[in-house]
Amino acid sequence: MVSLVKDFPRVHLGHTPTPLELMKNISAEFATNVWIKRDDCTGLAFGGNKTRQLDFYIGQAIHQGADTLLTTGAVQSNHVRTTVAAARKLGLEVEVQLEHRVDREQPEYHRSGNPYLVRLMGAHINYYPVGEDEDGADKALEVRAAELAKQGRKPFVIPLSNAHTPYGAMGYVEGAEELLAQLNAMNIDPVRFIVPTGSASTHSGFLLGMRASGCDIPVHGVCVRRDGVSQQQRVGNKLKSVIDAIGCDISIPDDDIICDDSQLAPGYGLPNDDTIAAIKHMARSEGILLDPTYSGKTFAVLLDMLHRGDFGADDHVVFLHTGGAVSLFGYPELVEDGH
Ligand SMILES: *Cc1c(COP(=O)(O)O)cnc(C)c1O
Repeated sequence: MVSLVKDFPRVHLGHTPTPLELMKNISAEFATNVWIKRDDCTGLAFGGNKTRQLDFYIGQAIHQGADTLLTTGAVQSNHVRTTVAAARKLGLEVEVQLEHRVDREQPEYHRSGNPYLVRLMGAHINYYPVGEDEDGADKALEVRAAELAKQGRKPFVIPLSNAHTPYGAMGYVEGAEELLAQLNAMNIDPVRFIVPTGSASTHSGFLLGMRASGCDIPVHGVCVRRDGVSQQQRVGNKLKSVIDAIGCDISIPDDDIICDDSQLAPGYGLPNDDTIAAIKHMARSEGILLDPTYSGKTFAVLLDMLHRGDFGADDHVVFLHTGGAVSLFGYPELVEDGH
């Protein structure tokens, strides 16, 4: 099958195709078939979903002759860590901006996990004092990029807000095509996909990749940063801009954009008790590591469905593991509560 995004400049940063595995113990526990798509194993400095997204952002950067990457994220941002690793791999300069997005005083949150690795890889770090101002954070990057351009550098900004061409989503168009090929080869027809939805690059790209391939299986998005109503709008907008950028003839109705915010509380980067229980359940049943911000919340939603008995013995469900476990080291209290 020819990929919908084959004509876009890209690099190849990761180890793909990532494995699609049956989780035997969890499947036995709930008498159904629970599969995991191992995008935590994309292989670039602990991997995760950002590797696929960066293939297309950095493809653009190189296409435009850039020599320096700039990006922004929370202190425990996996995207920032992966961007720095990609720059190092490709011999590009890199500057990152860390936002004060999560109110956590724990020293480990600021020193261990992702920020540790970012420092280890030697990225230049700027700090941005605000947390919930995406446009402001992107503008600060543009200001810094203009300064670098004045010094003769060729900067490329990888923005996070929704006002830019979502090259990252193209990585998940391809990710969906890859998963579908694996499912077809095994003759498996799942009843549902479960994916996290944050900046919406993963969700919108995945949904488009599935629908454009003729697959109509529900894609259950799990909100990690915004409530369901705002997130549905965000995914819808991102879908429109990626469809425009690709120039494909498809429309995806709003009611096909599922945004479940049942695990969002108390907020971005802050796990609730169900999320912590889900992280432990996965670690103790399968030896697979989830994170408190994204994959733990996503699996908590799936675990809830499994407990309710939503899937039968012949059903198959696929959980997209987007990585992020590095940030566990910023949350030592998860195992310090005596459990
Ligand atoms: C960034 C991230 C997400 C969210 O993906 P988006 O494309 O931003 O929606 C999910 N899981 C992990 C581990 C991430 O780092």
